Amino acid sequence: MTLPLSPRMSYGQMRMALYDVAPDLHVASAWLPGKLDGIYCLATNTVLIDRRITYTRKRCALVHELVHWQHGDDTSNGCRGGKLEQRCRHETAILLINPAEYALAERMYDGNPYQIAAELNVTIQIIQDYRQWLHDNVTV
Ligand SMILES: [Zn+2]
Repeated sequence: MTLPLSPRMSYGQMRMALYDVAPDLHVASAWLPGKLDGIYCLATNTVLIDRRITYTRKRCALVHELVHWQHGDDTSNGCRGGKLEQRCRHETAILLINPAEYALAERMYDGNPYQIAAELNVTIQIIQDYRQWLHDNVTV
């Protein structure tokens, strides 16, 4: 199934879109321990997003956990790293970034990742993951 998401959707719009396409998936806010922004619990089919983080981070955390949900990866104890996590991060970045907008922001801000992230309403991590993905997949 394709996630019903586009790069300019707000956190609220993403949650609304999910009600229609994935009525069995539960998405809720919670006080997550440590530095966790989001988790996906396979057993209960629930995504939890930390209450305290900004909407920009919530957007990124939600998409990240939805990619895990799509692949059936349980992250209820946090992401474990490795190949699966790498794949998830790349897919997340691709879902959150429009290539044309990225190219424009890259020129407008002279490659400054903080300003590009602010312009595209994503975290720095997403910009880094997107660049990594470009590096790995685009032959110039
Ligand atoms: Zn993860």
